[in-house]
Amino acid sequence: LGHPDARVRAAIDVACQAVLDSETELTHLDQQVGDGDLGQALARGAYGWFDDPIEGDASHLLRHLSWIARRDVGGTSGALYAMGLLRAAESLERGGDWGEALAAAVDGVAGLGAAAPGDGTMLDALAPAATAWADGPAAVVDAARRGAEATVGAVARRGRASYLGERAVGYPDPGAIAVVRWLEAVVTAQPT
Ligand code: ADP
Ligand code: MG
Ligand code: MG
Repeated sequence: LGHPDARVRAAIDVACQAVLDSETELTHLDQQVGDGDLGQALARGAYGWFDDPIEGDASHLLRHLSWIARRDVGGTSGALYAMGLLRAAESLERGGDWGEALAAAVDGVAGLGAAAPGDGTMLDALAPAATAWADGPAAVVDAARRGAEATVGAVARRGRASYLGERAVGYPDPGAIAVVRWLEAVVTAQPT
């Protein structure tokens, strides 16, 4: 299990709380371009985390969260978050820093979803955030926000929103907004 990492555990608490606080918003967004289940799906994951508190080092915590994503979130997001979290955990185990872990998560999500930034998915927020890592917390959140905002004007090429073609233009991608919500909460909560 390694040395218990209370700081990472607290950051995951913050991220999961942000997901719960955003449930209604994410439900609404996924009703516009998808099937309306994203808010509930991610909330199930957050409850899964809060219901089963564990301790351990950062990679152990991320592996546990990956398993919760598979067990409780389900759907497209469950599989993609499970992959991203697993890749991040593996990166930390190889001695990578958090920037490398985030980049590994992006690669994992992109590989499983056959998606690239610009396809109108969660990657549009996550990938720019990873790229901005070296520029500091404010730049990371900024990059994620700008990436998510850019999904409003784009035709989605992956996920259910892609079934809508041009009709999805004008709506943000729910998964990208979800990334912004937990990321901004985690960064805001970090002592600087
Ligand atoms: P569904 O209800 O279709 O199973 P979710 O509601 O769990 O999907 O998640 C929807 C979000 O997942 C989308 O808003 C998008 O951000 C993301 N997504 C969907 N497909 C992909 C993909 N192939 N690659 C990356 N992200 C994707
Ligand atoms: Mg959905
Ligand atoms: Mg669904």
